[in-house]
Amino acid sequence: MNQEVKINFPFDIKLTVKREDLLHPHISGNKFRKLKYNIIKAKQDGNSCLLTFGGAYSNHIAATAAAGREYNFKTIGIIRGEELEKKIDDNPTLAFAGSCGMEFKFITREAYRDKSNTDFINSLKEQFGSFYVLPEGGTNSLAVKGCEEILNEQDKKFTHIACASGTGGTVSGLINSAFPHQRVLGFPVLKGLDLSADIHKFVERDNWELITGYHFEGYGKVNEKLIAFINDFYVKTGIPLDPVYTGKLFFGVIDLINKGFFPEHSDILVIHTGGLQGIAGMNKELSRKKLPIIKTKENA
Ligand SMILES: *Cc1c(COP(=O)(O)O)cnc(C)c1O
Repeated sequence: MNQEVKINFPFDIKLTVKREDLLHPHISGNKFRKLKYNIIKAKQDGNSCLLTFGGAYSNHIAATAAAGREYNFKTIGIIRGEELEKKIDDNPTLAFAGSCGMEFKFITREAYRDKSNTDFINSLKEQFGSFYVLPEGGTNSLAVKGCEEILNEQDKKFTHIACASGTGGTVSGLINSAFPHQRVLGFPVLKGLDLSADIHKFVERDNWELITGYHFEGYGKVNEKLIAFINDFYVKTGIPLDPVYTGKLFFGVIDLINKGFFPEHSDILVIHTGGLQGIAGMNKELSRKKLPIIKTKENA
């Protein structure tokens, strides 16, 4: 569903939000798109178990756990950080994934860095039996194929498409399915990591660019200005944003509009990729630090 938002800009520019966050109550936004063809493939190949990787508040872990429950797979989450094992009940993301039946294996940050090597995967097979591997963040060519379905015929009128980027899978899908006159902008949320090479693995067009100035000092990092922006946007539009991806994206798009980056009469489609499950965990951290929290329907 596309929702136009009315904000006064110093230029004649239209802003529309694609509410991918509303696709599914638990398999949110782009994670639904990224899982779709992987789940079909896993079923076709006769797998009954999905195994994947993620950090403490990972949207991908939450989505995989929910998809497992819905589509009858056992799910295993390899989680970064041994210390989290004792804090599952304190962590809304892991508590949710656990309630969907996900089994966890907690590993150190060092072990996590080597998670893709064959020895480690083989040791997991010995421990858990056979499984279908979803990479961290869920990006592979089937995931990109799913993200190509975010855009449809009705989206032809837009001049620009913008999304937040972690691994670059989502923006790759948008690049592939954008109409010829459209420009695709990816806003990386990680600091100091060049995603271009990863995107080039999946795309052959040059209708895109990465906007690197809105990571707010790194993955999962926030400041009071970002939280204030998220709350202000929610009050004005009724659209909730998450602090890790979409908050930074919308902050960036609106900042660029105000700075005159977009030509007059631009009609921008911003993809709301979901991730709202991460708000609860972030608010716990913010409360602990006595900082303002993110407003939601529940805490209003
Ligand atoms: C995972 C995620 C992204 C990043 O998607 P990539 O395909 O890894 O670039 C963006 N937004 C939200 C809400 C996400 O959960």
